[in-house]
Formats: sequence, C-alpha cells, structure tokens
Amino acid sequence: PESKLPALGTTIFTQMSALAQQHNAINLSQGFPDFDGPRYLQERLAHHVSQGANQYAPMIGVLPLREAIVEKTAALYGHTPDVNSDITVTTGATEALYAAITALVRQGDEVICFDPSYDSYAPAVQLAGGVLKRIALQPPGFRVDWREFRGLLSSKTRLVILNTPHNPSATVWRKSDYAELWQAIAEQEIYVLSDEVYEHICFTEEGHASVLAHAELRQRSIAVSSFGKTFHMTGWKVGYCIAPAAISAEIRKVHQYLTFSVNTPAQLAIADMLRQAPEHYRELPEFYRARRDRFIQALSASRFKLLPCEGTYFLLVDYSAISDLDDVSFCQLLTKEVGVAAIPLSVFCAEPFPHKLIRLCFAKQEATLDAAAERLCQL
Ligand code: PMP
Ligand code: GLN
Repeated sequence: PESKLPALGTTIFTQMSALAQQHNAINLSQGFPDFDGPRYLQERLAHHVSQGANQYAPMIGVLPLREAIVEKTAALYGHTPDVNSDITVTTGATEALYAAITALVRQGDEVICFDPSYDSYAPAVQLAGGVLKRIALQPPGFRVDWREFRGLLSSKTRLVILNTPHNPSATVWRKSDYAELWQAIAEQEIYVLSDEVYEHICFTEEGHASVLAHAELRQRSIAVSSFGKTFHMTGWKVGYCIAPAAISAEIRKVHQYLTFSVNTPAQLAIADMLRQAPEHYRELPEFYRARRDRFIQALSASRFKLLPCEGTYFLLVDYSAISDLDDVSFCQLLTKEVGVAAIPLSVFCAEPFPHKLIRLCFAKQEATLDAAAERLCQL
C-alpha cells in the first residue's frame, strides 16, 4: 500500500537494542532498567490474577488505581482531579500521547514541539493531519527562548507538546517556564500536552514542575505519566493522563477504540503499590541520583565531556574530543568496536543537529555502569 508514513522506519530504540544484542554490547541505548521492579508489586499482580481479576477493566481504568492517582496528584501538585471525569488509564504513556493528539489535532492545525523531541509525537501529529512546528533547543541548557516561541504562534496553533524531565536532554522545566507559556497562550484556545513520564526522577532543588501545579494552564492541559519508569517495569505498559472533563471526554472517545481498556490485574497491583508503598516513588530521586553520580564519577577519567543531568535516567555526553564521525555512525562504532550501545541525539531533531552528543541510560546495575564506563574510558 502507499505508505501514510513514508519517512518512518523502526525506532532508533529498536535498532540500537538489536545492534547491541548482535554485538553483545552493554546496552545503554533504549531506556529500561536491567534490574527488576519491586517484589511487592509482583506479588500483588499474582494475587489479583489468583483472585480472578482477569476480565476487562472499565474503559477509563479501575477505580482503586484512579483513586490512588488522585491522592498522589493532590499530595504532589496541589491539584485534585475528579476521579471519574479527569483520569484515563492507558496502555503506557505512548497510548495517552497518541489518543490526546488524535483527539485534539484537526486537519491543518499547527502543533508546537521542542527539539530534540521524543520520537512518538511527530507521527501522531502527521496522522492527524496536523503541521508540526519545531523549536530547536540548544545544548547544554536546552532552554526555551520564549520570544522565539511567541514568534511561532499563529491563529492555527492548536497544541503545544512539552516534556519534563526531558528525554533525551535530561533538563527540566522551571515554574517560570510555565508562567511564560501561559502568558504566551492565554488569549487563544491552545492546549498543552505535558509528557511527565519521568516526574519521579528529578534531581533539582525545585523538584519536578508539573503543568498540573499551574492553576490556569491545567484547565487546558493533558498531563501524561507512566508507571513503567516509576516502578522499573517498562514492560507492564500502564500509564495515564489527567485532563479536565471536557478534554478527557474527547481523549476517551479515541482510547475506547484504540485499546478500550488496560490490563486489569496490573492496574490493581499498581494501585496497591501506590497506596501501600509511596516511599518507592518518593525515594526514586535518591535511588537514581546515586547511580547517576557513580556513572559520572567513573566517566570523569574519560575524554567525553559530560552535560548536566537534572532529571530522567539519561546522561548526555559530548564526544567531539574523540571522533569527527556523525552521531549515528559514532553510536554504531561504539556498539561494534567498544561494546557499549548509546542513542544519537540527531534522530530526535528535524533540523540538522550540529552537535556531537549521545545519550547513555544509567538505569542499570552498578556493575553494568562500571563495566560500561571502563570501556568508554579506553577511547
Ligand atoms: N515519553 C517519553 C519522554 C518517554 O521517554 C517514554 C518511554 N521511554 C514514553 C513517553 C513512553 O512511555 P511508555 O513506555 O509508558 O509508553
Ligand atoms: N522511551 C524509551 C527511550 O527513550 C524507549 C521506548 C521505546 O523503545 N519505544 O529509550
């Protein structure tokens, strides 16, 4: 058939993980832990399966999970979403993002995103008939130039997609960024899709700034999160979005024909985990800070230049002192010859990306990080 997405192949994550496997390299490319999630969560899953919670969940998610999400959101961001109308449980954040974009973006609508941007946004916008307007952020800070942002707004702007803590740059939005965003879009009917899947992996003093904490913006926003990152279980694929009732109603129209509902026992197990062991996500910044710092320390003897890491479990490193290769070629060489797989940054950008930066995932056991750093220090 004639392709609706002719420029797309398989994702860089699929490609690099396959290459890592083929060459038996340490895989710091695709973002997933090489350790297991909490035993308690696994036990609760087995429990709910054994209790017969094995039929369709309600389309919007099981009540105990939605209740636990309300409690968590109220405690962390000072906003109490309505348990029935504002929360939709989805098959990972990926489905929430896709459903939100499909529900909101009409033919010819403009959507603003910030490059480097996560790879699932653009295809969804394209399939919806939207036009993506990309703002290129510059390393090392990757801060938004709000004058440039205002210059990109038009009468056709419908949606802004942001991501904080940010994959792949590992930078985070400040409260002041939301104030700027609101000032820029307040007068127009523009919606905000805020990808916050790393909400619990933030290392700054201010902590994670959620769009939900901004009283005006949240009236027009969809906040997306995922339990895959929070509970070290990327394979469970349970996520959710929070949005005001009228927006949620539109997203649900898509969700109910995309997947209809999400794995029942996994939802119930996650609800137990959120309620019984909230210390897990409260302690997550420290858990990952220790890994980040160990990895940074081990790489300090290398010729890579390390960029600041404010959040996520990714570290950006600049290899310009080591090689003149473009980042895609360098990642291939690194996997095949050095035995460490990484992700090139240019694949997240529409414009040519003139920097020599690659992304390393540090959601790994200490021994994995040490072994990878030893190899990287040989360059
Ligand atoms: N958004 C970002 C920024 C991500 O990094 C990821 C996964 N790594 C997702 C969305 C997708 O999350 P999920 O696996 O829950 O679908
Ligand atoms: N989001 C993960 C990453 O950034 C990958 C998810 C995927 O493989 N689609 O590495």
